Amino acid sequence: MATIVQKFGGTSVGDVTKIKRAAERVKREHEAGNRVVTVVSAMGKSTDTLVQLANEISDSPDRREMDMLLSTGEQVTISLMVMALKEMGIDAVSLTGWQAGIKTEPVHQNARITDIDTERLETYLGEGKVVIVAGFQGMSESGEITTLGRGGSDTTAVAIAAALKAESCSIFTDVTGVYTCDPRVAKHARQLQSISYDEMLELANLGAGVLHPRAVEFAKNYSLPLIVRSSMEDVEGTIVEEDVSMEQNLIVRGLAFEGAVTKITIERLPNRFHAMSDVFSLLAESGIDVDIIIQQMTGENEMNVSFSLHTQELPEALKLLENNHEQLGYQGIRHEDSLAKVSIVGSGMVSNPGVAANMFQALSDHEIEVKMVSTSEIKVSVVVPEAKMATAIDVLHSTFELDASEKPKVTV
Ligand code: ASP
Ligand code: MG
Repeated sequence: MATIVQKFGGTSVGDVTKIKRAAERVKREHEAGNRVVTVVSAMGKSTDTLVQLANEISDSPDRREMDMLLSTGEQVTISLMVMALKEMGIDAVSLTGWQAGIKTEPVHQNARITDIDTERLETYLGEGKVVIVAGFQGMSESGEITTLGRGGSDTTAVAIAAALKAESCSIFTDVTGVYTCDPRVAKHARQLQSISYDEMLELANLGAGVLHPRAVEFAKNYSLPLIVRSSMEDVEGTIVEEDVSMEQNLIVRGLAFEGAVTKITIERLPNRFHAMSDVFSLLAESGIDVDIIIQQMTGENEMNVSFSLHTQELPEALKLLENNHEQLGYQGIRHEDSLAKVSIVGSGMVSNPGVAANMFQALSDHEIEVKMVSTSEIKVSVVVPEAKMATAIDVLHSTFELDASEKPKVTV
């Protein structure tokens, strides 16, 4: 008997009709003779609504109480889902994260799963029940309710699948799979049949919202195939796995982008031994997330240091640098906002030189100025003017031959 883990995201359980539709899918897997565990998110945008309520009361709500509050969203869905299944004559039971044995670090709002005690899950599965588990939540050793970070239900599903040694884990969502780029922005975006863990991890970290990065990390560590598919239509999804056999010839598999980027340049910073650590420790201590960093010598003992960050963090970063002007000893600070980061991702880059060169050529052919660059083995990111972001995406999508050629196949 195969063990199947499925996860339905918020939009796939957004109302009662959708919950019933999701229940039909659960029923189908159960009736096919599988042992089924289904993880669900909170209904629709209900987590956002809970966050909003908290923010109406406090600017910095207590983190423990936030977990207490946000974990209620998923509990609504598990009980309704079980009721829907029972109406269909399926024996099912709902479990909160802690009832399902999900143990986490003692960290509120962004806890990592440390272990899963599968005893209770196994008992119910052994009795032939379908088990519906609340995503996004667990419990610390001291018995505190924790949550796994926004979008964390994916991670719950993958962790349970790994713990139960399931065949695969299906993530049902409101899109039909993983695309070469967000189809709302890239006109020619195309659904991928498969993508490797590393590529998916880069894309997820670069902001492709379709999967929680930690879920991809987990799947990779346990070599668990992840399938992203639509909860609305019966079409083939995208499989995230180690060996991507199809479309192997693609050097670049996907594109990610992010607007509202600002570049700050600290001018003529004295080139002391600890200069870089002084600047970036200062920012890190205030929780400012810095992305690309460029250091450039401007004289014997002086350098310019540029870095990019989210525009939202600009005022705080400027204030910190200005307050520490004397200690850091720089001459001036400049910043440039209305920038965007566009990245190309693909495992094929490792063995194909010239990918970055092609990227720069294509951008310069379209008079798109590159302000900053960063690379990893399987990614090149450029910072460009935000006004040119859409053009840059289109140009790169076609330069690396990602444009749509065929529609995904319908399987049922
Ligand atoms: N409900 C949580 C959120 O919106 C977790 C999830 O949906 O994955 O972030
Ligand atoms: Mg999600």
